[in-house]
Amino acid sequence: MTLAIQTDDIRAAAARLAGIAHRTPVVTSTSADALTGAKLFFKCENLQRMGAFKFRGAYNSLAQFSADQRRAGVVSFSSGNHAQAIALSARLLGVPATIVMPSDAPQMKIDATRGYGAEVKLFDRYTEDREAIGRKLADERGMTLIPPFDHPHVMAGQGTAALELLEDVGALDVMLVCVGGGGLISGCAVATKHSLPQCAVIGVEPEAGNDVQLSFRSGAIVHIDVPKTIADGAQTQQPGRFTFPVIQALVDDVLTVDDAQLVSTMRFFAERMKMVVEPTGCLAAAAALQRVLDLRGKRVGVIVSGGNIDITRYGALLSAA
Ligand SMILES: *Cc1c(COP(=O)(O)O)cnc(C)c1O
Repeated sequence: MTLAIQTDDIRAAAARLAGIAHRTPVVTSTSADALTGAKLFFKCENLQRMGAFKFRGAYNSLAQFSADQRRAGVVSFSSGNHAQAIALSARLLGVPATIVMPSDAPQMKIDATRGYGAEVKLFDRYTEDREAIGRKLADERGMTLIPPFDHPHVMAGQGTAALELLEDVGALDVMLVCVGGGGLISGCAVATKHSLPQCAVIGVEPEAGNDVQLSFRSGAIVHIDVPKTIADGAQTQQPGRFTFPVIQALVDDVLTVDDAQLVSTMRFFAERMKMVVEPTGCLAAAAALQRVLDLRGKRVGVIVSGGNIDITRYGALLSAA
């Protein structure tokens, strides 16, 4: 079966993003290396425009709109970072945007989305179906729906994070990637396996929201209830029809970490590396730093996926630990 994206799609995305997305820094930490016995390379997408890698996939999608699509606009649904990514990309490209967001999304994310000039429509994530709401808007207004992960242009854009990391640091033994619905890891897996077939690509999900792990291990898409976890960017209920085949074909394993391990990792980033990383952005790093995985002697890429968190909530999470 042909996968939804190939290496050339990621290269084309990288060309579209050149000079528009930040080429985010890769940082290392002596403390992190001492703790794990590995050589860790952190790709800092918390320092990406709008604060997460999602800008890559959103901009790559909107940049390929036809003139008609640009005129009618874009609609999306998201728990936050994808919404901001679409809103910012739409503003940069002069495309009107409507975003369907859960009413309990962090206020900062709702405000930021409105701040980029998008129209925000709120819904109750425990009783209403965001996809149906998004599709209805798309039908009524002729807008193009760009989902948060299950779209080839989104997946290809996200893969540019791993492409840059490999260009900057060279060969790796392991690539650790945060997983929600699998857009980031599917792009990163294609980018990684093309140049380094022997590099293990490992996904990390919240323990309470292990839909991709269950699907990966059973060989078919598994649907779960809306997970309760502090990793709000990974509260997905199932992998996508485009992302899952890529994960099955190219990902080596999917692991989980719990909320306490995410908080410890947020603290490590703050104290040792002077970085604000949101809970979801800590998933991949937590697998290394909390030693879920034995990485001794290995060169390891860690995608730090985002840094958007309300500062009061950030303080509360760190002081409760
Ligand atoms: C969306 C998101 C993820 C998960 O990405 P998927 O492509 O859905 O797997 C991880 N981290 C952050 C910060 C996100 O915003």
